[in-house]
Amino acid sequence: MRIAFDFDGTLTLDEDRMVPLARSLMAQGHKMFLLSVVQNPEEAERKAQFLFDNGLSDFTPSFVQAYGEGDYKECAEIKPQRCRDLGIDVFFEDNDIVIKGVHSISPDTVIVKPSKGSA
Ligand SMILES: [Mg+2]
Repeated sequence: MRIAFDFDGTLTLDEDRMVPLARSLMAQGHKMFLLSVVQNPEEAERKAQFLFDNGLSDFTPSFVQAYGEGDYKECAEIKPQRCRDLGIDVFFEDNDIVIKGVHSISPDTVIVKPSKGSA
């Protein structure tokens, strides 16, 4: 399958659980993507470095660039379009606006919204 992870609040929600989950899916041979908004080139580099540092080097970054006066609402529409264009089967995403957009624009994509249980 083709599986995408959002970064902020998803892959980083609970790194002790989300990173091993992502690594396991990658090891099973799924085609993995990081689908994330970045505000500047440094943020893109930081997120790519996170993948490398956490054994997720097989992930393909798909950054939505919101350089300068980035309008997050507009970015929230681009992520669903990316899901459709990349043929994403499963998308791990925490943002309800993005999730709503995916339901509308890429209805074949299954959304997984992570939540962190209390310890
Ligand atoms: Mg997020």
